[in-house]
Amino acid sequence: MTIESILPIPDIFSAKRILCIQPHYDDNDIAAAGILTQLAHRGAELFYLTATDDLMGIVDTTLSDKEAEELLKRDQFAAGTIVGVKEQYWCGYPDAGEYNYFDLRRNFLKYIRKIQPDFIFAPDAWLTYEGHRDHIQTGFAAAEAVMFAGLTKIASSDPEVDAAYEEHEIQGVALYYTREPNYIADISLSWEEKVAAVRCYEAQFNPDGMEQLVLALDMKSKQVAEGGSFLRGEPLKVLHTSALHCGI
Ligand SMILES: [Zn+2]
Repeated sequence: MTIESILPIPDIFSAKRILCIQPHYDDNDIAAAGILTQLAHRGAELFYLTATDDLMGIVDTTLSDKEAEELLKRDQFAAGTIVGVKEQYWCGYPDAGEYNYFDLRRNFLKYIRKIQPDFIFAPDAWLTYEGHRDHIQTGFAAAEAVMFAGLTKIASSDPEVDAAYEEHEIQGVALYYTREPNYIADISLSWEEKVAAVRCYEAQFNPDGMEQLVLALDMKSKQVAEGGSFLRGEPLKVLHTSALHCGI
């Protein structure tokens, strides 16, 4: 039995400014480019924030870190153009490496207070069997940063941002890579754009790996839409921000 929150599920389509917080450079798009593309088409502003430097998954390991970073950013900007991302930000923590959780949270707080999004996308930290610490830490830190955005006694990494911040409303969070979706976004009409965006991530997928990824996304998108009135979906756990604490 699943006990749902009594709070209403916020309407993603009312979002005007969306901050999408991801552990690695491709997670937002692999998980949610279908719905994000649609939101951008409807006029929402998309901001992407990447927690790590993503340097560990580079296919060409002969590249220097600087060369790899250029390729990663090239891929991200190409995908972002397709999806309609307005701005990209990076925290630069070492991919799969050692970094402090509270530093991560301070950085997320900074961007939330600076950008003032009304909706946040992030990985579901409570995903069963998620083995990658970057994903768990990013999901938890994003959830805490949402809860604490208005509490400026909890400092961000930038005192000037904190001093200038006036509390704003975050309507909700959409957790992707979730096993407990309460909303399946219909991405039938944005599927081609999603695949085109995902195919931009060449620095971390060799051609065979990319085909496997697209095939897996193809199957998954149809599986989650099964029984519904549309062909392809993206599963999300959409929560009122207050539902992030004590399960009310
Ligand atoms: Zn990732």
